[in-house]
Amino acid sequence: MDIRIPSLLRIKPDTLFKLGKYLRKHGFDRIALCYGEGIEELVGRSIRISRDSSEITVVRQEVVHSNDVTDIMGVAFHLPRGTQAVVAVGGGVAVDAGKYIGFLNQLPVVAVPTAISNDGFASPGASLRVEGQRISAKAAIPFGVVIDTTVIAACPPRFTLSGIGDLISKYSAIADWKLSYHATGEAINDFSAMIALQSVENLVNHPDKSIEDLGFLQLVCGALVMSGVSMEVAGSSRPASGSEHLISHAYDRLAARPRMHGEQVGVATIATTWLQDNPQRDTVLRVLEQTTFLSAIRADPLDRATFLAAIAAAPAVKPGYHTVLSEPGAVERLQAHIAADPLWQDLLA
Ligand SMILES: [Zn+2]
Repeated sequence: MDIRIPSLLRIKPDTLFKLGKYLRKHGFDRIALCYGEGIEELVGRSIRISRDSSEITVVRQEVVHSNDVTDIMGVAFHLPRGTQAVVAVGGGVAVDAGKYIGFLNQLPVVAVPTAISNDGFASPGASLRVEGQRISAKAAIPFGVVIDTTVIAACPPRFTLSGIGDLISKYSAIADWKLSYHATGEAINDFSAMIALQSVENLVNHPDKSIEDLGFLQLVCGALVMSGVSMEVAGSSRPASGSEHLISHAYDRLAARPRMHGEQVGVATIATTWLQDNPQRDTVLRVLEQTTFLSAIRADPLDRATFLAAIAAAPAVKPGYHTVLSEPGAVERLQAHIAADPLWQDLLA
């Protein structure tokens, strides 16, 4: 088993001013730099300052407009000779594109997420588009992850709340993995399950769960990285993705207005942990309340009919993937619960 983990990991305020120094320390002085749309305007100045002061040469700079595989190939096959690393700065699209460009060229990738709306930036896969269809392609876990918490704190709150929704889903995902072990004999990687759960517990136990608190944000970012590492250790997305992710994927397909991944996953986790009779369900609700995740959803609820349809469609999203929703009558039981429980009245409309 060949497991890789990020060797360069910096999550702190103002790290972008030191990006050049970190790159040089790891022996990279000729880099390809991918920015997401509008990101150079946002953080380009600090990156230019750090790059110049550490004498890093940018051999190719690219603004990534899409995660379409054809566009990505266009960049990947034209990287100048002697490129030592791919540095991807931006949201999910830029980081996924950068990860895949690095993977195709067998070059290390340094991910510099400027928003933390899900755990994709540190995962071993890349979410791409092939002929208009979203696919999860195999890629490598980034060599480096550098996150400037000052930049994250300035993001619209929805992004960070979405990241928290994606994190809290580990409780549901791990419970489903255990269910599958008992029902189908699917092997569990205990270490992977442990790091996935422990990373969430760090922020669950943090006294101040304000998404403006730099200390709390540091824990959230660290936990998202660990979620990526747990997938690398497991060799699959099992520790990070259970029935709640299936509901979210189905909602993506059915909804007229899909929400951010972690928003959907967080809401679905409230549902699946009920069905699992999960002992952590109160923790899930408490963290989602304290971080203001729930009040944000109440201000703009998910579509009730679509959410109920997504629950019914979820088991077919990944055939053969055993979760609590695979059990006989589970879908109907959960739908009836949601119709009857007052908690759901203002989360769905
Ligand atoms: Zn996720």
